Amino acid sequence: MDFEKDLTVTRVLFVAPECAPLTKTGGLGDVAGALPPALREIGVDARVLLPAYGALPGRELATLDLLGKKVRLLESNLPSGVPLYLLDCPDLYRRNGGPYQTAQGEDWPDNALRFGVLSRAAALLGGAASPLDWRPDVVHCNDWPTALAPVYLEREPDAAASLMTVHNLAFQGLFEPSVLRALGLPQSDYSVEKLEFYGRLSFLKGGLVCADALTTVSPTYAGEIQSEALGCGLDGVLRERHADLSGIANGIDTTVWDPAGDALIARNYDAAAIDAKRINKRALQERLGLAADEEVPLLGMVGRLTHQKGIDLVLAAADALVALPAQLAVLGKGDRDHEHALAALAARYPGTVAVANGFNEELAHLIEAGADVFLMPSRFEPCGLNQMYSQRYGTPPVAHATGGLIDTISDGETGFLFDRPESGALLGAVRRALALRRDPGRWRAMQRAGMTRDFSWAEPARRYADLYLRLATRQTA
Ligand code: ADP
Repeated sequence: MDFEKDLTVTRVLFVAPECAPLTKTGGLGDVAGALPPALREIGVDARVLLPAYGALPGRELATLDLLGKKVRLLESNLPSGVPLYLLDCPDLYRRNGGPYQTAQGEDWPDNALRFGVLSRAAALLGGAASPLDWRPDVVHCNDWPTALAPVYLEREPDAAASLMTVHNLAFQGLFEPSVLRALGLPQSDYSVEKLEFYGRLSFLKGGLVCADALTTVSPTYAGEIQSEALGCGLDGVLRERHADLSGIANGIDTTVWDPAGDALIARNYDAAAIDAKRINKRALQERLGLAADEEVPLLGMVGRLTHQKGIDLVLAAADALVALPAQLAVLGKGDRDHEHALAALAARYPGTVAVANGFNEELAHLIEAGADVFLMPSRFEPCGLNQMYSQRYGTPPVAHATGGLIDTISDGETGFLFDRPESGALLGAVRRALALRRDPGRWRAMQRAGMTRDFSWAEPARRYADLYLRLATRQTA
């Protein structure tokens, strides 16, 4: 599509701190990798802005002075073909470790500046002072590392509209108020109406207050974050902006997560030939040292090992789950305590419980394909991706009825939801799943229903495109 000459096309700068396959720590990375190409397919000129965490090749477009840092703006493309702008500043971004944390799991001490620069760059490219010919109609910000962009944009001449998407309200980017000066913001911005959050400076609050529109990653979560229970202290701000807040459930990359073409699993299969799935179960058992038993149900789980993800509910229910009987395969990394408790559990049940620590894309695919049932007992879940992957892989999810899990799982049709985030409720739902599994006809029907459900980005991309258009026309009106 030749976007350059078509003035009716909406131009969107998609700003993110991570983007698959270049950098990914969670769902936001998947979204940044998959939504922009889906948008381009329907005629939105979406381009991505990202820090250069590695030495990535690119053509230099400009040298910028951002918050006292010299930053090279590079132009490149994502593997999907989406145009990519990279901020090259080795001093800030090129480090051994993750995008937010050291290899030891500590936040980088200069995160305020690192993501202040990212936000500042986004605002610059969204305003009249941009060094680029290409000017976006909308700057689409994602989570706290980009949330100061709408704050900066307020002071840019002839600025683009801004959209702030919350992928997880629990991560807010809170810093000592003394960072204000380094961020190049006036003292007056540090007020309860704007950046101040209980004595600290909040990136996310700035974005929620200043952006023209707000979205979050599922309709149910959009409602939940306006309540005290799940509002993480920002529910008041969100209630005030409820007219500008909507929920759009994420899609998944159906080319990467496709049991019929997945090169990372032992045997491909589809809804018409689910039987071959058992070869993946066998491969998974072998890979993790679980007993080679075709009959015993294999429960799988992949994700961050944190309180949010409800891993402690699995730990509390583990003895009862094993006694069902069932095997358990967990892949994840996260809190030390949970990692240790899982290791102890695996040691107690050799051949029945297996735990793999770390981030392992390939094993994640094999668990989705090889498990019989997928566990997702999250206490809260903005959208969640794994439950969609698992449905697509014919592995019905057992999940807590919260956030995006409610919006993407049909209880009794494609999976099982339980009401309270308690180990007993989780166990009850697993029992329900295993009871259905004993009826092969109905189990197959559930697997098929999940495998054939449309989880692609086509529909969510259309909804984002509508929103961009509304914002773009409001801007020029
Ligand atoms: P969140 O973004 O809250 O961590 P999501 O379910 O939205 O949770 O997305 C998590 C993504 O990260 C999924 O693609 C999941 O497969 C992947 N993931 C999480 N932990 C691991 C891990 N240890 N190894 C491989 N992939 C993982």
